[in-house]
Amino acid sequence: MRSFTTDKEQIFQLLNDINPQAYGRTRNYIDGAVTYLSPYISRGVLSTRIVFDYLKNAGFDWQDVEKLVQELAWRDFFQLVWMRLGEDINTDIKRAQEQVKSRDLPSALLTAETGIEAIDFAIKNLESSGYMHNHLRMYTASVACNIGRYHWREPARWMYYHLLDADWASNACSWQWVAGAFSQKKYFANQENINKYAGTNQFETYLDVSYEEIPNVDIPGQLMQGEKKVWKTNLPETDADFQINPEWPTLIYNWYNLDLNWHKEESFNRVLLLEPSVFERYPISSKSIEFMIDLSRNIPGIQVFVGEFEELKNIAGESKFLFKQHPLNKYQGEEEPRDFLTAIPQKNFNSFFGFWKAIEKQLRADFENR
Ligand SMILES: Cc1cc2nc3c(=O)[nH]c(=O)nc-3n(C[C@H](O)[C@H](O)[C@H](O)COP(=O)(O)OP(=O)(O)OC[C@H]3O[C@@H](n4cnc5c(N)ncnc54)[C@H](O)[C@@H]3O)c2cc1C
Repeated sequence: MRSFTTDKEQIFQLLNDINPQAYGRTRNYIDGAVTYLSPYISRGVLSTRIVFDYLKNAGFDWQDVEKLVQELAWRDFFQLVWMRLGEDINTDIKRAQEQVKSRDLPSALLTAETGIEAIDFAIKNLESSGYMHNHLRMYTASVACNIGRYHWREPARWMYYHLLDADWASNACSWQWVAGAFSQKKYFANQENINKYAGTNQFETYLDVSYEEIPNVDIPGQLMQGEKKVWKTNLPETDADFQINPEWPTLIYNWYNLDLNWHKEESFNRVLLLEPSVFERYPISSKSIEFMIDLSRNIPGIQVFVGEFEELKNIAGESKFLFKQHPLNKYQGEEEPRDFLTAIPQKNFNSFFGFWKAIEKQLRADFENR
């Protein structure tokens, strides 16, 4: 089982483990050379730009890194979608998901009993490690939404709850992409495909059919039962000796911003702000809370504050707030931009490939200019 370090030195060391050529060839296999960087990118410890700059300076050729850079661009693209749509990311983006039979959560995701070995194994692993391989995420979403005919939203909330890399932009958009609400058609994987990429050897399941037949598979018994699940976030307490020096500005860190090098060496109050209202709408597991707190310990002087921004404001006196741009932030103060691979294009893109076409040339020129 994969475990994710929270030690600063070790996190930055992970960049040295990237093998972009092997990544391009094997990333779809569950034992492929994926980077496992998403928990750090999602938490704002690393940015897509930091990974890009590492690849650029490590002496690789553009052809070697292009596939990986394209995947990093998917991430930026989904961020831009959330920034553009705001709360509307929670509704079907391009078209209504078709053939929806239920808006509940399939119980089989909670019990890891979909009947597909690779998926059930990946679900158990998700709960213990906080990670699931991209292909398994796609298989799981396809089984829930396109075979079980559940609306994407509740299953997406289930997955988000458990992922250390939980990022509602990548999560909601990917679930919608699989379910055909943010793509031209639904994504299906049959048993043969799953066996190939997940290394299983399972036959005679409800997925053991051809691609012509798969959209018409009846909802199998394993996926019939649905339920309404209420997720709860167990937030910690505010630090006992929490204190703000009103003469210093205050940097706000949160679930999406744990940049360990942000205004390093300068005199700031540093507050990890955990707003109950945010976690009520986007709940996360205790394992994720622990991961976040452990990561934050790399930031000297950081203090945990559990409460709404307004409450923090009331006790911060004259201290000025600084924070990084994010769609969930409703703070007042000075907003700083987040890092992306390139400057954000002004145009709105409806599809990833339109976005990729717009940034690819610039990225390549930037990469080769070293
Ligand atoms: C249903 C579903 C839900 C998902 N939910 C999330 C989520 O909550 N948070 C999240 O970070 N990613 C999510 N993803 C995207 C993707 O699965 C993960 O980013 C990736 O598996 C992370 O593992 P890695 O860092 O080893 O990826 P690698 O394959 O090594 O990729 C390197 C980096 O590129 C980016 N990336 C790669 N693939 C994608 C992708 N398909 N979409 C967006 N960015 C990508 C990530 O930042 C990743 O860290 C989801 C995908 C699906 C299909």
